[in-house]
Formats: sequence, structure tokens, C-alpha cells
Amino acid sequence: MTTTRFAPSPTGYLHVGGLRTALFSWLTSRHNKGEFLLRIEDTDMARNSKEAKDAILKAFDWVGMGCDGEVVYQSKRFDLYEKYIEQLLVEDKAYKCYMSKDELEILREDQMAKKERTRYDGRYRDFIGTPPEGVDPVIRIKAPRQGTISFVDGVKGEINIAATEVDDFVIARADGAPTYNFVVAIDDALMGCTEVIRGDDHLYNTPKQIVVYKALGFDLPNFYHVAMIHNEQGKKLSKRDGATDVMEYKTMGYLPEALLNFLVRLGWSHGDQEIFSLEEMIALFDPNDINKSSSNYNLDKLLWLNAHYIKNKPDSELVELLKEFGVDLEGNDKASLLLSATKERGKTLVELAEQIKLITDAPTQYDEKSAKKAFKGEAKEILSAFADMLALAKPTSKEAFHSVMEKIVEDKEIGFGKIGMPLRVSLMGSMTGSGLDEIMAILGVSETIKRIEKAIATIKANFVM
Ligand code: GLU
Repeated sequence: MTTTRFAPSPTGYLHVGGLRTALFSWLTSRHNKGEFLLRIEDTDMARNSKEAKDAILKAFDWVGMGCDGEVVYQSKRFDLYEKYIEQLLVEDKAYKCYMSKDELEILREDQMAKKERTRYDGRYRDFIGTPPEGVDPVIRIKAPRQGTISFVDGVKGEINIAATEVDDFVIARADGAPTYNFVVAIDDALMGCTEVIRGDDHLYNTPKQIVVYKALGFDLPNFYHVAMIHNEQGKKLSKRDGATDVMEYKTMGYLPEALLNFLVRLGWSHGDQEIFSLEEMIALFDPNDINKSSSNYNLDKLLWLNAHYIKNKPDSELVELLKEFGVDLEGNDKASLLLSATKERGKTLVELAEQIKLITDAPTQYDEKSAKKAFKGEAKEILSAFADMLALAKPTSKEAFHSVMEKIVEDKEIGFGKIGMPLRVSLMGSMTGSGLDEIMAILGVSETIKRIEKAIATIKANFVM
């Protein structure tokens, strides 16, 4: 069975780059009908917080990427790690090292002076004498001293590292706390992870983790190290390139399906297809197709995708989503008219909510520039005549409102703009918004007339024409 995992360290929010790695792992497991596990790497007590842990789980919930089984917390597994440390000591695959900090420092300086790579020299590897007093030992693993540590990375290809590059690294600190690479290897093995997909900033941890796998007799998983996401200038993605916290995208009115579609294309492709439903992603994704090179973050594309998903979302779902953006259309018989009038104009839920409010909320003020332009000449008379025609014709549909507009254009022998502009300013407060016939059909005759009358009175009183 294919088992993948995502293993965030809860030191902050869920980063979009992390979500992409998680998505790749999630798709790999779903594609193979396997399992996707979540492990919270919270051994660093000083840097972890419960808020960060909750924030990560909340973000997963929002995007709808469920994990299988219980969430694994490393902080609850110290006994287990201790057991394996003991085992390695008993089997003579690890040893206590009594080197003091000062000694380590002297060794470092010496190696640096000789322009050698700084590494532990193995001085306690086969030590049998009396340990020095007053030093709490660390535990080091016996890394191989000869040969090559090799593995085939599903993204980068074959990786060969000379064993001499990996020293006898610490697996437990002087206070007994196990170290990062040691616990990651144990957890991945015990959780049965068959594919480990992670950022390539971890590539240099992998040889160390392989040393642990081998020492404990665990089978190696397949590794995939994914290139980082870059900004459009080719630099590492930072706050300046847009939000990096997944939940900020929710606040900005993005749909999770748009964000996931955007992220899956950062480092993976299928021909030149851009739009992928979740089902398509699951059907097509293969981690062996992940690109070698890094991918660029392009927020215009995310916006384009979001507009696509909003346009295609069923009204009932939009009604639900819009509640968080201050628009409640539940039970409103004009809901579907309102949405079809605005859907094309809202690239985000924030914009969609604004477009809807522009129609439902009567203007409290008028944009001066628009008003001056629209209320030139005979605008007031044309609007009054139009209001009278509406009162008489009592149109209810978009088409019927449109006919009344056509009629006034014909009767008065005027261009469409002569009614369109002042009418738009009267109804919306400025020159923006959806189609006028649609807006009027939503407002109905009496509200339309009310807004026209108020505009005539207010705009005349406030602006000198
Ligand atoms: N906890 C690590 C991180 O957040 C991930 C470790 C891994 O995926 O192996 O970067």
C-alpha cells in the first residue's frame, strides 16, 4: 500500500509552499488508494505552540485535504525514541560521546585552519576507558566510514554521497532529547511511509536519515525532493510576493479548489492543461513527473483560476460562502438573479460581495466625477421621463426593463449613454457595476424609481452643473 505523509513543524502558520508539498503527498496516496498521514513535528518545545498546531489543522480542514488515521505528535513519542536509542547502544551501533563544547570548538577551528570540512572526528567511537567527570554525554550513531550512501530520488535522480561526508552525528543530546534526523527516520519507518515527498531543503538530511534506517534495519522509502517555489524574479518566495499563510487566501476570498489547482501546477504539469478538478488531479498525478526545476509564483494566474471557479460554482454554495463576506442571500428570492448579474465581475469572494452590495445597498453618496459627467444637460428630464415610463409599464424581467430603455432612446431620439450614464449613477452611485437591465430587474420598479428620484434631488442640490 502507498503511504505518504506531511510532517510540518508547528512553529507558525501553514505556508503555501508546505501546502504544495502536502498536496503532492495527498494526491500520491489518493491516486494509489493508499493513506495520507499527518505528523506534527513538535519536539522543539521552545519553538512550538498549540496555536500553530491548530492553525495547521484548520488550514487542512479549509482546503479539504483530510488525513487518514490519528494525527501523530512527535512530542508524545519520546519513550519510543528512547527505546531505539537504547537498542542502538546495546547493539554497539551508537555510543556515548564525552567531548566537551570547548573540545568540539578546538576541533572545529583546527579543521577550518586546515581548510577541511568541519566534522566530528569519531574520538569516542571505540572508547573503552574511564569517561571524564562532569560531562553529560551525547549519543552519536556509528555512521559508515567507507563507501557511498546512495539513493534514487524520484525528482532529482540518483544521489551518491561519500560516506565520509556524514560524520557520527548526534542522535540524543546531553539531556536525552532525540535529534531531528533520528526521529524523522524512525517515524517515517514506523508509520509505514512508502513515499517521502518534501522540499529539497531537506535533501542533505536524507543521507543521515538513511544511516538511521540502516542501523535499525528499516526498509527505505522512495524519496522525492521537490524544488522550492520562487517568485517571478527567481528568488525564494517571501512575504513581499504575496501572502504566504494559507489562511490569508481564505480571507482574501479565494476558493480552496483554485488555490489547490494553482499549487499543483507549481512543479507539476500534464501537457499544457491549466485547469484541474480535484478528481482530475488525483487521476493524473504521479510524483515521478514532478519537475526538476523550481517553479515561479504568479498571482495573476491564481486570480484567473479563482474567477473560473467562482463562475462555475453552484449558487447555493456561493450563498453559503458569501455569508463570511458580509452578504447573506439565504432565502432571498433574488439570490440567483443577483449572482448571475455579478459572478463574472467577482474574481474573489471579496469582490463578488462588493458587487452584490453595490446593487442591494442604495448609494449613500455619489461619485462626484461620475455625477458631473452623467448629469450634464437634460439628464434630469430624461430620468424623470424614464421613471414615469417605468411606473406605467411596470416591467419585471430584465428584458422588459431593457425595452423601456430602448423606448426612451427612441422617443427622445437620444444615444443610449444619455439615459445609461445618469441611470447608472442614480442606481449605483458611480459608473461601475453590472448590466443596468439586470440591476433594475433585481431592484424592481419601485426601488428603481426611488433611487432615481433621490439622485435627481441630491445630485442637483450638491453639484453645480
Ligand atoms: N518538519 C519538516 C519541515 O517542516 C519536514 C520534515 C520532512 O518532511 O521530512 O520542514
